[in-house]
Amino acid sequence: MSSTRRFDALDHLTGSQLSTLMMRYYAGEPVRVLLQEYGVQCGPGNLWRHFPAIPTGEQCPACGAALVERFSGRTGGSSRGQPVSRCTACRHREAHDCGCAYCVARREEYRQKAERQRRKAIAVFCADRWDYATRAISPEQLSARTAFALLCVVRSGGWLGPARVGALSNEHPRFAPFQLDFSNSIPLIVISSQLAAPSPDSPLEAFPDDTAGNLSWSQERVHWQLLMQDPPAFIYALEQIITKRTWPHGWIAELTDVWLELAIAECVEFCIVSAFKKGLPTPCDVALTALLKNLLLDYSVSQVFELLGASIDDAADFTERKYISQQRAESFMVGACQRRADLARAEGATIRGLPRDPMLGRTQASHVLHDVFFGHGEAGFFSAIPRA
Ligand SMILES: [Zn+2]
Ligand SMILES: [Zn+2]
Repeated sequence: MSSTRRFDALDHLTGSQLSTLMMRYYAGEPVRVLLQEYGVQCGPGNLWRHFPAIPTGEQCPACGAALVERFSGRTGGSSRGQPVSRCTACRHREAHDCGCAYCVARREEYRQKAERQRRKAIAVFCADRWDYATRAISPEQLSARTAFALLCVVRSGGWLGPARVGALSNEHPRFAPFQLDFSNSIPLIVISSQLAAPSPDSPLEAFPDDTAGNLSWSQERVHWQLLMQDPPAFIYALEQIITKRTWPHGWIAELTDVWLELAIAECVEFCIVSAFKKGLPTPCDVALTALLKNLLLDYSVSQVFELLGASIDDAADFTERKYISQQRAESFMVGACQRRADLARAEGATIRGLPRDPMLGRTQASHVLHDVFFGHGEAGFFSAIPRA
């Protein structure tokens, strides 16, 4: 071991003594014992600082001066005794987290290059999937469902520019109830109607890739490029049509369907969360949807919450008493809820209803449908859906 620099504290040692001392130090022997045995005058925490630096024969990439290897303390840092190459002239060290100006600039350059490559890949990905040509369409030509979906996207994302709105994942209010059939359908309607498409300029995280490097896109995180001419004027005109209630033919029936779908989604979400709180499985989609369609014929979402909540309580109680198994709890719950509703109908009993669960506040979809379109606000939660 040849040294370029020797500190006073270790000057009296021979090369082989020094090597042995270092070996014993990194093997974990008590430092105080070593200091005493080798007659070294320094603080125990500083011993490793006196170990010799070794020339590596390489040049510093930042300034061209010689690099040397210096040892580090056995408990500090990730190198745990492994020598780290450092420059003899500047702050550079051969480590991935070197903070010298050269390395910081090089990492930034690398990050920018990687970002440029990713942007190119995203542009190709988007161009392969969506047509960004401006579409000649007027608000009067939209179906009610498409108008609803478009307004949900615009209100949720908010304007970022004259033809661009932000992501649906904005925190408040939530975009739609946690029921994927419903929440996913809204942006898909907007895309399939060619009213908007995911913007290639969305944040990078809107286009995640898998381990094989294949890109995908996130409905919640992409920004939206609106494809009609003069989007702000288009949306304004659409809002005028909606608020004046001079609705095109067929809108009432279509919006009543959307009301039912939103109500089902809200009830499914309530059921999932309430069952989870009681440690119960969620009923299968088919059985639950059939039950909800039946209940929503006569009852508001608020009243269905009460019926569901009571049946989930019953199922939890029966499971705890071991009258029924966990596996049976889900079908028991659906059956119990249907019987409870049938009895209430037969006896004309009043179901007062529950308020919204604080965890499951109103969504943007609810605001757009019940505040903007129907103009009755939370009455949409507390009233049964009018039959056509
Ligand atoms: Zn240097
Ligand atoms: Zn550096």
